[in-house]
Amino acid sequence: MPVVHVALPVPLARTFDYLIPADAHPVVGGRVRVPFGQRSAIGIVTGISANSALSADKLKTINAILDEQSLFTASLWRILNWAIGYYHYPAGEVLFHALPVLLRQGKAAEMAPLWQWFATEQGRATALESLKRAPKQQQALAALLPGPLFRHELAEHMLTEGALQALRVKGLSDLRPAGNGGNGGVDWRHDFCVEGERHRLNTEQATAVGAIRGDDERFVPWLLAGVTGSGKTEVYLTVLENILSKGKQALILVPEIGLTPQTISRFRERFRAPVEVLHSALNDSERLGVWLKARSGEAAIVIGTRSALFTPFARLGIIVIDEEHDSSYKQHEGWRYHARDLAVFRAREENIPIVLGSATPALESLYNAQQKKYRYLTLGRRAGNAHPAHEQLQDLKGLALTNGMSQPLLQKMRAHLAAGNQVMLFLNRRGFAPALLCHECGWIAECQRCEHFYTIHQQQRLMRCHHCDSQRPIPNQCPQCGSTQLIPVGLGTEQLEETLGALFPSTPITRIDRDTTARKGALEFHLAQVHQGGGPASSSARKCWRKAIIFAMSPWYRCWTWTARCFRRISALRSASHSCIPRLRAGPDGPASKARSFYKPTTRTIPCCKSCCIKAIWISRNKPSLNGRQSRFPLFTSHILIRAEDHDNRQAALFLERLRQLLDTSPLRDDALWLMGPIPALQPKRGGRFRWQLLLQHPSRGQLQRLMAASLPLVNTLTQARKVKWSLDVDPIDI
Ligand code: ADP
Ligand code: ZN
Ligand code: ZN
Repeated sequence: MPVVHVALPVPLARTFDYLIPADAHPVVGGRVRVPFGQRSAIGIVTGISANSALSADKLKTINAILDEQSLFTASLWRILNWAIGYYHYPAGEVLFHALPVLLRQGKAAEMAPLWQWFATEQGRATALESLKRAPKQQQALAALLPGPLFRHELAEHMLTEGALQALRVKGLSDLRPAGNGGNGGVDWRHDFCVEGERHRLNTEQATAVGAIRGDDERFVPWLLAGVTGSGKTEVYLTVLENILSKGKQALILVPEIGLTPQTISRFRERFRAPVEVLHSALNDSERLGVWLKARSGEAAIVIGTRSALFTPFARLGIIVIDEEHDSSYKQHEGWRYHARDLAVFRAREENIPIVLGSATPALESLYNAQQKKYRYLTLGRRAGNAHPAHEQLQDLKGLALTNGMSQPLLQKMRAHLAAGNQVMLFLNRRGFAPALLCHECGWIAECQRCEHFYTIHQQQRLMRCHHCDSQRPIPNQCPQCGSTQLIPVGLGTEQLEETLGALFPSTPITRIDRDTTARKGALEFHLAQVHQGGGPASSSARKCWRKAIIFAMSPWYRCWTWTARCFRRISALRSASHSCIPRLRAGPDGPASKARSFYKPTTRTIPCCKSCCIKAIWISRNKPSLNGRQSRFPLFTSHILIRAEDHDNRQAALFLERLRQLLDTSPLRDDALWLMGPIPALQPKRGGRFRWQLLLQHPSRGQLQRLMAASLPLVNTLTQARKVKWSLDVDPIDI
């Protein structure tokens, strides 16, 4: 009896066999509806065999076949199946993750009609003046008069569904389905052209474009390293001209924070071709729409964050990953894939070029470039007429600090403010202070569920745990000794704002952190204020942008990610308030100053933070003479991290201990394997759960993979496996 093997979205590594009804033709990669336990479930066919290992009377039969052709392109199918093995993650969950939500739910893989609002006959005849008591309705009707609006466009026009519904009740507007959201079958390739403003490329840009263009018909991975503002986006756009004019499509991945209207409009303005964007504001049917348009070839460019990687394309010609170092490319829960790594894999499978761009490339990428796996391109100068930033390091040893700020920093700030410039300060801790300490007995307020200090939020009069978000009122008395001498220790943005207010009383100050930007639209509001030259008190735009940065460092080998994050914020600011901001990176009439403060600016920490080129030197210097500790850096070894959590602080460690024994006694274990743990996680308790981990390292990725694959089926036989919550992270980025 022929059977199909079906992957179901359940946390089990195995697939399930079903009988095929007569006259039915399931396809590999297509969906089927099958009985599963008491219910029915949607599954994806992973294979068809002449017979099953189980006897026919034990097997159930497929209920329905949902797809006549595979939902996956051949290359995506290979990538996903490879990823199932590599990340040791259940097949069903991986395959379902790669599909739009509506397809996971069993909806048909075709365009749903899009709805649009329009002004009725009566609405057109109504004088806008008559709606002046209902300004929102007035605005809504005015917006409909030039022509109908798609529902998903309302936000762009600052309209609400409520106002339109109110008009509908009055008979002035109505809703109708408008086609299938396609462009009526017109092929963009017929009238593709490059339009919009183009810069004359500088020599470095031209070299980069020439290199990529010269070899863009096959798989070539490029690492394009260039400081923010050096014109990387301009390089992507120019490279795309060639690809699109050959009728091929492009996939652009950006970090979560990078998906700004300005990035998108640069692509839209440059090409007369459909640009589709997968952003968080899309609803499920709009997402499916983008997926279908990419698959049919109707979309020329798809821009999206991490999961856009799984979009199927009819004629994919290039992948671009902007800010490739960004940690948002790594999925942090469930199937912990790295979109950059999978994208390189995809480019190889599709035999197309891939461009990884960054101001601060990941050490892994630099290493790949050094190993000649990637081709390396640099843009060393800022594009256009911006001057390079002036950087200065400040050793804080022995300096008097005013709430974290040294005198040299304060002097610089004073000078810039006096000259009418603006100043930016970065601090990686929100709230008023990161801890509350009893001056008498040393008690510290701590979240019991996470064993983590509460952060003091003075304005809200609350202590909040930044790990589980639990909150409690700030106590007046120490619960341990009764003293009222409770003092906030450390510095947070709220306190910095207060201090700055006292130091610079006449200077408007805008604080931007998660607390001040939680409300929708608040970030845009603050950015607009900054753009106008300062806080609410200031009205005239300042001439020039300059900035100072307070910098905090982490000892971990990824310490440069902090640099990257600051750069990212700066570029986010830039794109959010367009015209003036390019100057933020460097003033037009003088170099922007960028002072960072460090304790212990040792040679070890600074070089790898300062710039990518120096990081590259760091690698090349250290590689030949690696000491014991360095040789275990992730660049030179492959890592798998196994995490486990429990409620009683016993089972998780026990589970990992058993797992370690299992690995230790495996016939595939060799001397090069290095096991670390079980040890408590860096944050040993969170939300009432105790967290432990076991780290596996091996110089051979393949060897480590084989050991893991052979051991996993045995792990599930451990009794502790059912008592703890555990997960496996291949190539972890947070250890
Ligand atoms: P990046 O992506 O590296 O941050 P962009 O491509 O956004 O850099 O370029 C930064 C700014 O410089 C943009 O405003 C862009 O329009 C401008 N620019 C880029 N290339 C050139 C060039 N060759 N000549 C003049 N201006 C340029
Ligand atoms: Zn006390
Ligand atoms: Zn907590």
